Amino acid sequence: MNEKMRQLGTSPSAIRELFEYGKKRKAEIGEDNVFDFSIGNPSVPSPQVVNETLKYLIDNTEATKLHGYTSAVGDLNVRKAIKEYLNNKYNCNANESLIYLTAGAAASLTITLNAIINPGDEVIVLAPYFPEYKVFSEKANATVKVVNCNFDTFIPDFELLKTSISPKTKAVFINYPNNPTGVVLSKEDMAKLANVLKSAQEAFNSTIYLISDEPYRELVYGDIEVPYVTNYYDNTIVCYSFSKSLSLPGERIGYILVSSSCTKAADVYFAICGAGRSLGYVCAPALFQYMIPYCLGHTTDISVYEANRNILYDELTSYGYNVVKPDGAFYIFVKALEDDAVAFSKKAKEYELLLVPSDSFGIKGYVRISYCVTNKQVKDSLPSFKKLIESYKGD
Ligand code: PLP
Repeated sequence: MNEKMRQLGTSPSAIRELFEYGKKRKAEIGEDNVFDFSIGNPSVPSPQVVNETLKYLIDNTEATKLHGYTSAVGDLNVRKAIKEYLNNKYNCNANESLIYLTAGAAASLTITLNAIINPGDEVIVLAPYFPEYKVFSEKANATVKVVNCNFDTFIPDFELLKTSISPKTKAVFINYPNNPTGVVLSKEDMAKLANVLKSAQEAFNSTIYLISDEPYRELVYGDIEVPYVTNYYDNTIVCYSFSKSLSLPGERIGYILVSSSCTKAADVYFAICGAGRSLGYVCAPALFQYMIPYCLGHTTDISVYEANRNILYDELTSYGYNVVKPDGAFYIFVKALEDDAVAFSKKAKEYELLLVPSDSFGIKGYVRISYCVTNKQVKDSLPSFKKLIESYKGD
C-alpha cells in the first residue's frame, strides 16, 4: 500500500475528530447539552425548489436518461444554463465550453490542481486556510507555501504575498466568503490582489492561476457583494459548489469554470478534462446536474445563519472575546484566551463547547465556531461562552 495514503487515512482531521467526540458526548449527556460548533454541515434544509425539481425530474424524465451517463464534462444544456446565469448576474463572459461539472468543490479543486501542476511547482495558500488545500496540493505534487494574512482583518497581507511569489509559483488559492474566518474580500482588495499577481506574472514571465474556491459565494449578510473573480484577473479558475448554497453537501455537485480570458483557456480546459479523466471524476451525479438549471439563483434560508452571526458576534464581543465580524459563510474566528489553541479548545470542552483549534487552519492562537446550527443552540450556548471567559479572568 501507499504509506502516505495510509497515514492520511489514519489521521482524521481535527474537525472530524471533534465532530466524532460530539456525537459520543451527545449520547452520554443529551443532544441539547452539547454545543457542537465543529463541522460545516448546513442546518437549514434545501429550498423547496430543490425537492420540487427532483420530484418533477423523476416523474418526467426517461429513467435511462435521468440515471444514465452524461458527457464526461457534464450535460451541455446544464453548462449553458450556468453560463447564462453567470453572465446575467456578473457580466463575466462565461463560456459553456469552459465549464466542467464536478462532484462538489473538493473534486473541483483536485481536478484543477492536477490539471495545472508540473513537478517543482509551488502553490500559495493564505493562512488561515481550509486544511484540505494542503492535502489536495501535495497529492498533485505541488509544494505548498503558506503566506499569512493580516491577522487584524484576515484579508491578505499584499506586501507579504508580493515577496512570497517566486518563479515557481503556479497558483494562489483564495476562498471568499472564507472558511474559517467568514471574511469577504472587497472590490478594492480584489483589485489589489489581481495587481500583485499581474505584476508577478510580468516580472517572472510566468502564468499564475488564481484558484477561487467558492462554496460560500451566496452566503453573505446585509448588502455585501462578493466580487466575481474572473472580472478582476484573467488567469482565474473558479471552483464552485452547490453544497452550502443549496444545503446539498451529501449530493456532491459543483463545477469548474475556466475564465474565457485565461491564457490558452482551451488548453487549460483540456487539461481539466484530462485530469478529470485520469482521476476518474467524469460525469458528475446526473440527477443533480439536471436539477441545476431550475435552482440557479436560489439559496437556502440564510436568515438563520445571519441571526446566528449577529448573536454570536454581539454577545461574544460584549463578554470580551476578540472577534473579526464575519460578512459571510457560517464561521466566526475567535482569538483563543491562551496561546495554545488546542489547550483552549480542550478547556472549552469542559463547558460542552466544541470549537476547532486554528492549528488545523495553519495558524496558532484562534478557534473556529461553525454556526450553521439552530438559533436555539446558539442562544443556549451563550452562558457557556460567558463561563469560559470568566474562568480565564479568574487566573
Ligand atoms: N472548500 C471549502 C473552503 C470548504 O469549506 C469546503 C467544505 O466545507 C469545501 C471546499 C468542500 O466542499 P464540497 O462539499 O463541495 O466538496
